[in-house]
Amino acid sequence: MAKKVHVFNAGPCLLPQVAIDHAIEALKDFSGTGISVLSISHRTKEWDAVMDECRALWKELLHIPDTHEVVFLGGGASLQFLYVAMNYLEKKAAYLDTGVWAHKALKEAQGIGEAYAIACSKDKNYTYIPKGFEIPADLDYLHITTNNTIYGTEIHTDMDCPCPLIADMSSDIMSRPVDVSKYDLIYGGAQKNVGPAGVIFAIIRKDSLGRVSRYIPTMLDYRTHIDKLSMFNTPPVFAIYVMNETLKWLKGIGGVEVMYEINKKKAALLYDEIDRNSMFIGTAEKEDRSLMNVCFVMAPGKEELQDEFFAFAKERGMVGIKGHRSVGGFRASLYNACSIEDVQALVDCMKEFENLKK
Ligand SMILES: *Cc1c(COP(=O)(O)O)cnc(C)c1O
Repeated sequence: MAKKVHVFNAGPCLLPQVAIDHAIEALKDFSGTGISVLSISHRTKEWDAVMDECRALWKELLHIPDTHEVVFLGGGASLQFLYVAMNYLEKKAAYLDTGVWAHKALKEAQGIGEAYAIACSKDKNYTYIPKGFEIPADLDYLHITTNNTIYGTEIHTDMDCPCPLIADMSSDIMSRPVDVSKYDLIYGGAQKNVGPAGVIFAIIRKDSLGRVSRYIPTMLDYRTHIDKLSMFNTPPVFAIYVMNETLKWLKGIGGVEVMYEINKKKAALLYDEIDRNSMFIGTAEKEDRSLMNVCFVMAPGKEELQDEFFAFAKERGMVGIKGHRSVGGFRASLYNACSIEDVQALVDCMKEFENLKK
């Protein structure tokens, strides 16, 4: 029996137990083949069935229209910063600079062509989402990072954009309904909310490709992966297997719409406690607060209690609540597989700490 813990890791994320249990079975015997999923050929009908199911689940859960295709690749979300620029940047692109990941995406594009930050929230250590900026209609694209994993800010709606819109949704994909039709490209890594590390996803408007004049290396050309149904080369088989099991679980609880309601409840539970509890304060602007990553610090005057709270929380089974090194304080990541009971345990722990100290 594993030790009782509450996991709030920012990524790789907590995964549903049923996905892990099925993965353990598949490690021993994949789909009744007598072969481990680690050794199965990706050119078998048993593997094709997993790929087809996984692709279908993505389409079903996010209501992906026929104009778009979803592909699964290796390489990390960070590699897709380069994919984006290679496949879409011709004359000029704009990036909304809402944190480290957004900034890295911009930097990568600047190595390929002309790209600039259209607005930036660095002045307040990325604790808010810039608003009210003008978007020129003649841009190749505007790039946004919908959830800023490190700072706990999130763009909660699918914005109207006069130019093509591209979004890194690494850390909020499948956490809320998305109007896919508003985006030319949605991409990210699986390990923040939909699977283990090692597989990345891209949801691509098919007719948005082929508009740039540069040579695109075969592996960096999204068209390669659309044409070959994500099997141009050996896909990350095991990671896709676990992602598929995770999506089956998500469908089983009612899909993204039901998950969204649960996620709102989880986040409200924790933010309400942060706002009530005299020991802590939240760091993100309230209207931009992320449902996925909740960032907070010790209240003014209580800073010296930080290490004590870490130890106190650890004793009670809380794992992964340390803030990112560039921000400090605390961060609890409430990804899909994190339950309301996990959040309640953290809230209880915060209350208990306050009672002890006041
Ligand atoms: C973690 C993260 C990334 C980077 O993902 P890798 O797969 O480690 O390259 C990019 N964007 C966002 C929003 C992230 O949270």
